[in-house]
Amino acid sequence: MIQYAELTFDLPILEDTFTYEVPPGTQVGMRVEAKLRGRKEEGIVLSLHHNEPNYEVLQVDRVIDKTPVINEEQIGLAYWVKEQYLASLGECIHKMIPSGRRHSKVKLTEGLTASEPFKLNEEQEAAYQNIKSDFGKDSIHLLFGITGSGKTEVYLHLIRDILQNSNKGVLLLVPEIGLTYHIIRKLEAVFPGEIALLHSALKVSERFKAYTDLLQGKKRIAVGTRSAVFAPVSNLGLVIIDEEHDGSFKEHSTPRYHARQVALQRCRTNKAVLVLGSATPSLEVYHLAKTGKIGLQVLTKRPGTAKPPTVRIEENKKDARLLGSELTFAIKQRLDKKEQVILLLNRRGYSPLIYSEKEKTYIPCPNCTSHLCYHKKGTVICHLCGFSDSLQRLETKLGEKLVMMGTGTQKLEEFLLETFPGAKVERLDQDSIQDKSVLTDVIGRLVDGEIDILTGTQMISKGLDAARVTLVGVLNAGIGLGLPDFRAGERVFSLLTQVAGRAGRSDLAGEVLIETNTVDHPIIRMALDQDYIRFYESEIKTREELFYPPFSRLVRILSRSKDESLSLKTIEEVHQVLKKHLPEPNTVVLGPAPCPFYKIDANFRNHILIKTTVQNKWREILKKEIRPLKISKNVYLELDFDPLDLV
Ligand SMILES: [Zn+2]
Repeated sequence: MIQYAELTFDLPILEDTFTYEVPPGTQVGMRVEAKLRGRKEEGIVLSLHHNEPNYEVLQVDRVIDKTPVINEEQIGLAYWVKEQYLASLGECIHKMIPSGRRHSKVKLTEGLTASEPFKLNEEQEAAYQNIKSDFGKDSIHLLFGITGSGKTEVYLHLIRDILQNSNKGVLLLVPEIGLTYHIIRKLEAVFPGEIALLHSALKVSERFKAYTDLLQGKKRIAVGTRSAVFAPVSNLGLVIIDEEHDGSFKEHSTPRYHARQVALQRCRTNKAVLVLGSATPSLEVYHLAKTGKIGLQVLTKRPGTAKPPTVRIEENKKDARLLGSELTFAIKQRLDKKEQVILLLNRRGYSPLIYSEKEKTYIPCPNCTSHLCYHKKGTVICHLCGFSDSLQRLETKLGEKLVMMGTGTQKLEEFLLETFPGAKVERLDQDSIQDKSVLTDVIGRLVDGEIDILTGTQMISKGLDAARVTLVGVLNAGIGLGLPDFRAGERVFSLLTQVAGRAGRSDLAGEVLIETNTVDHPIIRMALDQDYIRFYESEIKTREELFYPPFSRLVRILSRSKDESLSLKTIEEVHQVLKKHLPEPNTVVLGPAPCPFYKIDANFRNHILIKTTVQNKWREILKKEIRPLKISKNVYLELDFDPLDLV
């Protein structure tokens, strides 16, 4: 009897599967090579059958795998992701398999001896017991603990409990592996040989090995970043998302999923517990906890003798000096005592703006609604599209000497090396970690006390735990407050609170100095007090008044094209379709309007924002009426459910 298979392909198409003839021995979940519409493509076998179709069927060219690379649960999950985010089934399923070709040497497990998790304090113990009592049910808990309150220890106890008392597996998601160095080290020490690490800094072969170990049940704990939420952990019992507020958990290409939502779905189908940990939870999650829809576990103290840092503010009008006098003095003191300093400046490059005196304007990127930024070694770069040129060529073309304005991390690093000679200074930002191993290396040396001053952008705010960091300085703390996005305030508050939390994590007292030219901005004042609850109470009122999440859910439809009129025409067509369903009492439709960044990489961008309490209804409308729209292939339509970015 001829064996047929339903194959799905990694293509943005409406069809879920195609029927092919496959050789005997082919199994569900294996990858095959086959011709589709005359081109060689990689497909995955989703099901097998003997129903001969009444049309001519092709044979696959070859079967790639010896054993399946996708399991039944993942196939089911892919169908859910497809429906939830309106992507193609093939795109969803291919997101789950490790791919890419980056190389790096990340070694996190050297010189470890097996150890036990630490003893929990009273609050940690209560959180642990409350969460544990839900094992075996599908339930969600927010672990809301101030920075340095020992959330990791609670995770370790929960994981150990699952491993010892059941045959279930665990999934731990973190924003960035390199920065969660200390968590991985602890995990490796407590659960030697049980961790499968999944992240992009590993070689594909290493990642595939870790993935296969999970698939075959050889390892029971998966640790990784966003896409690890699809990891084939068998018999899932517990999912932990550390720093759940972090923006990296949202995918920016199709399917535009949020790892928290996918985790939730997996917990539902597996009757597993989901733990969301943060010192600055996303407003949506805290609102759920506050209204009793999910469990709330609170940690208010740092363990042992460690205390939350004291926070002060220093006004730096128009950012006149690179470092204020108080901050300069405080850094000197720390260096004398052989303690460590972290300095946050959330702006990369050397000078963020290049000014033309002739034109009285900042030099724009030729491809974007954005300005060029000056980087070291005479290059000018656009941070939105990556355009780059040399300053010299630009000056020759314009016939004038341009003025560099403002300070980025590169200039700050140079200034620190001059001002504090002898101090070991390192910088972490997107430019310095082109090679991902730099990140792990720098964090390792910070933890080992080999770095005196670490400076960098927001990436240094995430999860770092170095005992001798006693001073955190923030330069130009108001950066980001002016962005036309309703989450701008939430992001700045979270960033300032998180980076402040890097200070004083051991018995050494910590201090935080915030420099800004907007000392009276309410977000800055609340960050100064490290008061999440007050921030929440004030922010939640605004959200309710403006009908933003958590009081509504969003859907963003964005058209982009190199042809300006085509982009506009397409979004207007979409609007015509939506209008047929309006007015609708639970929905507000904003736009169409040009996006705040109207042009990126020579693409003109227009969008529509739907705010609604009946998101599923709009999902259906988009599925049935927008996706099948016949639009020009020179325009791309992005459908984003619960978008995080609106610019
Ligand atoms: Zn650009």
